[in-house]
Amino acid sequence: MGEIEIQVGDITKLAVDAIVNAANQRMLGGGGVDGAIHRAAGRQLVEACKQVDEVRPGVRCPTGQARITPGFNLPAKFVIHTVGPVWSGGGRGEAERLAGCYQNALQLAAEHELTTIAFPAISTGVYRYPKDQAAEIAVLTTRKWLKYHSLPQRVIFCCFSEADADFYHNQST
Ligand code: ADP
Repeated sequence: MGEIEIQVGDITKLAVDAIVNAANQRMLGGGGVDGAIHRAAGRQLVEACKQVDEVRPGVRCPTGQARITPGFNLPAKFVIHTVGPVWSGGGRGEAERLAGCYQNALQLAAEHELTTIAFPAISTGVYRYPKDQAAEIAVLTTRKWLKYHSLPQRVIFCCFSEADADFYHNQST
């Protein structure tokens, strides 16, 4: 069965098959990890994102879904863009949509026969999702995926600080 690894660091530095971007629905860049990924990947990334079909005006990737592009100047071969939910108290389907981000990103990785994938803590920045609950969803959704699928073989949770990593370590006990 595939393995889960918790790391602390900058996701843009990881030489994996795919890094996941906590994007927004327009997919044309933004702040936080999205901005860092676009800066490190170079202008070609935004050009590739523009080629992704809009499902409705201004929306290339609805919340909870995922899209894939090359990684261009990144050490990662691909970027899987997903859009996490904005936290608004937990009663608006946030948990289901956050689980959808992990599941749909893992599915895209498997379809592209990718072995290693790294996730940031989707929605836990400006989208304000409680970090403990977000880590629980990340770990449980990934464990379930790995139980039933052979790819990817290695899933990294790339945390931006030791304190963030603790939320993931607490899940495995
Ligand atoms: P969202 O809009 O989904 O909340 P953010 O980018 O604001 O996305 O934050 C998501 C998480 O990514 C936060 O926990 C933030 O600390 C983390 N983060 C920001 N930059 C990086 C980076 N370069 N590598 C890994 N994680 C990062």
